[in-house]
Amino acid sequence: MKDECIFCQIVNKKLPADIVFESDNLLAFRDIAPKAQHHILLIPKLHIESLQHASIKEQAILAELMLCSKEVMAGIGVTNGYRTVINTGKGGGQEVFHLHLHLLAGNLPTY
Ligand code: AMP
Ligand code: ZN
Repeated sequence: MKDECIFCQIVNKKLPADIVFESDNLLAFRDIAPKAQHHILLIPKLHIESLQHASIKEQAILAELMLCSKEVMAGIGVTNGYRTVINTGKGGGQEVFHLHLHLLAGNLPTY
């Protein structure tokens, strides 16, 4: 828990969020500024700043993040696929420095 981190505050229910999934280690909520019809942020409850800050100690939680994504999306009715994005560091477009997996579906641009 990092007091000034907005995602830690969401984990601790100090800030509101539209939560769609919760487990012992993970939380998923709707992005406040959706870039697709469905835009979910799936985060570890543990504060890890970014993929650049993750170490081998966190391998289980990172695997859980990836493997739970289908369950999260199925929970909101998305069963035909989705896009996963992780922005890492300022150069990677990261704005919130608590590791998160973007899950996007519906009206996606192709690239
Ligand atoms: P990133 O650029 O990968 O760090 O993505 C941060 C994402 O967090 C952006 O898509 C924001 O729209 C989203 N975001 C920021 N604050 C909140 C919030 N309080 N609740 C939900 N999503 C948020
Ligand atoms: Zn945090």
